[in-house]
Amino acid sequence: MDPLVRSALWVQRQMARAAGTGLAALFGGYLVLTTLDPRPPAEAALVLGAFAGSTLYRAWQRLRRQPPEDETTRLDLELFSHLCVAVYAGVLRTPGGLDGAAYPVVYALAMLLSSFARPAAAGACVAFAILLESALHYVALGERGGERLLSHAALLGVFTVLNFLVFRAEITRVRKLSRLRVETELVKMREAARTYRLLGAPSGAGERSTTPPPDDPERLLRSGVDEIHQAVEFALELLRRSLGLRTAMLLGLDGAGTSLHIQEIATDEDAILPGPFSARDGILGASLSKCEQLSVDGPKAGLHVPYYAVRPAIGSACATPLLERGQPRGLLIVDRESREAFTHDEEETLGRAARFILRAIENERVFVQLERAKVEQGKLYRAANALASATTEAEVVEAGVNGAREFAAFDFAVVTLFDKNTSEHEICAVSGEGAAELVGQRFRHNAGLVSMVVANRHALPYRGDYDPARQMVFTRRLAPPAMPSLLVLPLLVHDRALGTLILGSTRRSAFSDSVRPTLEVLASHVAVSLSNARMLKRLEELATLDGLTGLLNKRALSELSVHKLKSATRFKKPLSLLICDIDHFKKVNDTYGHDIGDHVIRGFGEVLKRVKRDTDAVGRFGGEEFVVVCEETDERGAAQLAERIRSELETTTFHSDQGPLKVTCSVGVAPFPAAGANWDALFKASDEALYVSKRGGRNRVTVWNAKHQGNAA
Ligand code: GH3
Ligand code: MG
Ligand code: MG
Repeated sequence: MDPLVRSALWVQRQMARAAGTGLAALFGGYLVLTTLDPRPPAEAALVLGAFAGSTLYRAWQRLRRQPPEDETTRLDLELFSHLCVAVYAGVLRTPGGLDGAAYPVVYALAMLLSSFARPAAAGACVAFAILLESALHYVALGERGGERLLSHAALLGVFTVLNFLVFRAEITRVRKLSRLRVETELVKMREAARTYRLLGAPSGAGERSTTPPPDDPERLLRSGVDEIHQAVEFALELLRRSLGLRTAMLLGLDGAGTSLHIQEIATDEDAILPGPFSARDGILGASLSKCEQLSVDGPKAGLHVPYYAVRPAIGSACATPLLERGQPRGLLIVDRESREAFTHDEEETLGRAARFILRAIENERVFVQLERAKVEQGKLYRAANALASATTEAEVVEAGVNGAREFAAFDFAVVTLFDKNTSEHEICAVSGEGAAELVGQRFRHNAGLVSMVVANRHALPYRGDYDPARQMVFTRRLAPPAMPSLLVLPLLVHDRALGTLILGSTRRSAFSDSVRPTLEVLASHVAVSLSNARMLKRLEELATLDGLTGLLNKRALSELSVHKLKSATRFKKPLSLLICDIDHFKKVNDTYGHDIGDHVIRGFGEVLKRVKRDTDAVGRFGGEEFVVVCEETDERGAAQLAERIRSELETTTFHSDQGPLKVTCSVGVAPFPAAGANWDALFKASDEALYVSKRGGRNRVTVWNAKHQGNAA
């Protein structure tokens, strides 16, 4: 778009944006002028109508929808500047005007502003109000001194700022309060889950942990807790009604076995003590220690139940322990007013209810474990997919570290690779702060954790607890940041360790039994992907590199050159092609043998690698013939490079059993586009130039020109 049109459009846009506020300023101006010189009522009514219409339109625009932030600021400014004009018009028409009793309405407007308008709009509106009042003060009322104006302006500013601060502080307070409430709820929920032992109950391991797993399946826990609540509540209510109970209560035994906590309750009594209650006293203690159901009846039965704040009449009570593999986990305690002892059938029912509750808890626990396993499997599947699509070592390492993050929270990750030919480990990737300098470090196989893991193919250290003072990870000198948790996992392929994946965490027991097995599986996926990536790299090398010199082969260099030529054509950049051929090479083979011939070819390859620039591409085109493609290089630059190659080879001495040996080479140079506009033409031209070098006595450089056309080797 033309800059002029663009700026005209910009001006138009800005004018449209400022129109609403401009209109308010016009109404303000009208107010100032008519205060001096009242207008005919018809005109005044017309302006008043227009003003009311404009104000209502702004209010409607502002409240209609949720506009974007900067749009809101503009709409706020428009609406409140209109309101300013309205307020000042109103105040002027009350007795006393700007000094009258109605002036505080302006402060009320400021309060409204600071509470509901965007901060930028509020500031601009206060400025607008001060300007309007100044105009009224000096122009309309013709006053001289500025004291009243100054005090009004100062008060208005202070009022707005104070109100703004108070309002924001209140919002922050309310937000904090609600966040706190949510957090308290979460803590309660976790507490309930822990008492039901849903938390920290990994498959089979049965250990306790206070931290939720890294992927935080809070939702899963919540639904588990809810399910148990419902089942237990239902059972207790059923017991209460069918056995005529006053209270049926499920009490959970704490880890130490000393106190009982209320888990669930069905009662018609209001005042119940919150607990915990002693697990040693009365019928509760006796039932727990004997692991059997106990009942009491008679006038003293009430003494056995500790949970009433105001003890009602209790005639009988029965305590049934909840036994899990012979161990008491809690207690089902019931009581009723009737002094009749619990019958055998009733006790039997209570026993069954206790078993039902235990089973509900157990089922839910198994369900949560299954769900968790399902989630883990999904994550493992995703990580394995990401690893399978990684084709380079760097991609595999990245996918592996990202995958591990799904299962364990760690602050530091390292991948080491073991080279069994040199018996050395190399740190090839690090993720995490303050350890970047470890990358690229190599160390010998030793007695450190990494070496031990590679040798024994088992994760170390035991349980993931790391003590930097006693344990060595890489070498004495080379160590990861000191952290309480560390895990070195072997990268195993067909029982062979390619290297290790090391994870470190600043939390204690970060790599507990619940995550270690999954991480080991993940590490084996990483290993397989790593070995695939290596194989792919090797195949690529075989397909593109020349086996003798490690330079590009003919196909790869031709493809690359066609690409470079396209780009040179498109950007009109120079490019040159060099063909270098060793002179009388047959003689070398004949005199010294094929092996020395190969040695010389390799040596020439080294010379070329050394002399060329980074942007030049070199390939072996067969035999002792090499091709160099130089980007952004004209005829002169190419001739200089060719000369350097020639003289460098001339001064190189090769060694053989039959003494030292020297060779020379001839070079043909073809500049693009003078010598040829495509790859075939350019190649032909440099071959012609090479032929001229050979025919001219060898050991020389020839730059192609039109006279050389038609020469061929
Ligand atoms: P000129 O100066 O004209 O180039 O003479 P020349 O003897 O070097 O002739 P030419 O370039 O045509 O000969 C190439 C010889 O290189 C032919 C072949 O015996 C030899 N050769 C080709 N490939 C290899 C290889 O891989 N190793 C060895 N040792 N010799 C090779
Ligand atoms: Mg030759
Ligand atoms: Mg040759």
